[in-house]
Amino acid sequence: AARIVSRYLDAHPDGGWLPPDRAADLLACYGIACARLVLARNEHTAVAAAGVWDGPVVLKAYWPELVHKSDVDGVLLGLSGEADVRAGWRLLTRRFGDRLAGVVVQETANKGVELLVGVDSDPVFGPLVGFGVGGTDTELIGGHRFALTPLTDLDADRLLAEPRAARLLAGYRGRPGADAGAVREVLARLARLAAEQPCVAEAEINPLIATPEGAVAADFRIRVE
Ligand code: ADP
Ligand code: MG
Repeated sequence: AARIVSRYLDAHPDGGWLPPDRAADLLACYGIACARLVLARNEHTAVAAAGVWDGPVVLKAYWPELVHKSDVDGVLLGLSGEADVRAGWRLLTRRFGDRLAGVVVQETANKGVELLVGVDSDPVFGPLVGFGVGGTDTELIGGHRFALTPLTDLDADRLLAEPRAARLLAGYRGRPGADAGAVREVLARLARLAAEQPCVAEAEINPLIATPEGAVAADFRIRVE
């Protein structure tokens, strides 16, 4: 894990957002499951990557400063087969031109409860863990809760008791609920990542998609400095 961070800082002394494939590697070091992805720099690689996984894939525009991909129509969901992937590649290259540094080709996660799990380094308090309902409307829904690190069991209980998230996890209006224990694990693991990697200034998983079988990070970003 430390090597992933230091390699990036060697090349970018001012720090910044890790490329998505490196961010996925770092989360994996801490046992956080991510929807598998490849950062493709050309159409051929994108098509080859999409062919490896069963089922439809997601294409996401990538350049280092891009934070809200769906705000700029940079996320294409449910692409099945080579023709779809080629069309998606061309759409994104046409839409973003030279800004585009690559395209993330990602497997589609199962549907579930979309949550936000984040950690932010505060100069006084150190890493602060944030939790709440995720997805693209996360700011609109609000209600996020925060806890200091180290994250205790009681802290995790209080985060998970946030009423909007808790209702979704319990199964809201006939929708399936999800494994709150798996979400608790992700909270603990992300808190540990932040505590052990002081160069990590900020990390956000949104959405973490929770199902009865577990929790998978579908979108994430990690800033180091
Ligand atoms: P943004 O940069 O706008 O946050 P995301 O990568 O989070 O972009 O994608 C927006 C939405 O698309 C997510 O909230 C989620 O509903 C859906 N999504 C993104 N990636 C996946 C995936 N791998 N599998 C299933 N759904 C996804
Ligand atoms: Mg997101």
